[in-house]
Amino acid sequence: LAENDQLVLGIDLGGTKILTSVINPQGEMLSRDHSITPAAKGPEGVIQAILASSERALMGASIGLDGVSAVGVGAPGLADTEAGILYTSPNLPGWENVPLRDILQERFKKKAFLINDGNAAALGEYYFGAAKGISHFIYVTISTGIGGGIVVDGKILKGSRGLAGEVGHMTIADEGPLCHCGNRGCWEALASGTALAKAAQKRIETGAETAILSYAEGRIDKVTAQIVQTAAEKGDSIANELILKAAYYFGVGLANLVNIFNPEMIVIGGGLSNMGDRLLKPAYQVAEERAFNRSFRMVRFVRAALGRNSGVLGAAAFAFDEMKRAGRRRSAEATKKG
Ligand SMILES: [Zn+2]
Repeated sequence: LAENDQLVLGIDLGGTKILTSVINPQGEMLSRDHSITPAAKGPEGVIQAILASSERALMGASIGLDGVSAVGVGAPGLADTEAGILYTSPNLPGWENVPLRDILQERFKKKAFLINDGNAAALGEYYFGAAKGISHFIYVTISTGIGGGIVVDGKILKGSRGLAGEVGHMTIADEGPLCHCGNRGCWEALASGTALAKAAQKRIETGAETAILSYAEGRIDKVTAQIVQTAAEKGDSIANELILKAAYYFGVGLANLVNIFNPEMIVIGGGLSNMGDRLLKPAYQVAEERAFNRSFRMVRFVRAALGRNSGVLGAAAFAFDEMKRAGRRRSAEATKKG
């Protein structure tokens, strides 16, 4: 990926958490700093938190800023890798057209690179995790939302400006529930943890006979995907039915991805994937029923290997990658001139 002695500062900016780490080209994390995203404070407050976390990560690795070659940041939302701008982020209120890459470049006095968090996680799994050596795969994370990244021919599919790979916002049901992106019936509005919790709340409100509430201290606002899972494990039939419905929609989306991209592998990460067979097995069945047989048989479905570190490792990998590309461009130009 890069010269062995190079180090990169990786930053995984999430809607609720910031993870920073000093990372080498082998994907080893020499330090790790975990903090809360002060999302309500807007861009400047969040950027301050990133800087403070970065300082702690550098200290943890016993180096200064001069010890790293670059900074790679993964951010949620529409991140333009070419312009370095985070156009909008559903999880970060107040972020509109923030030139995050240049801001970090300015504050760190270091080359910085910006990538969407789903794409970063895909790269992390590609270089260091479950998809090592797999040239055609799709990473899907299913948690509060659904995100992902698409790798084609060993490269992240960026689209024209880095906005590609928003798998969570493909329309699955044209008249489905509203998504926070403004559209209706998006994959994440039907199959994510938030969708599952909302569906459960609705069933409870309409008087369904279920014990789900008893696992949520009797409070409907405390019903989460995890609570539904717990109820299902205890044999609650409505909870099981709700999970099967989410699994059904998850499978429909997987079938679309299989037919469109003919991947060798689909890597599934995110908190909801920890439900395991209860969610994934029925989802794979639906995907099998709906996708082309030949394409489906070629796909291996595997669980992500890097857990919470996939994003920060991928952001670092992206920085290593981009530096290498820039290096190759420079030497090609030098050859041409010479
Ligand atoms: Zn959407």
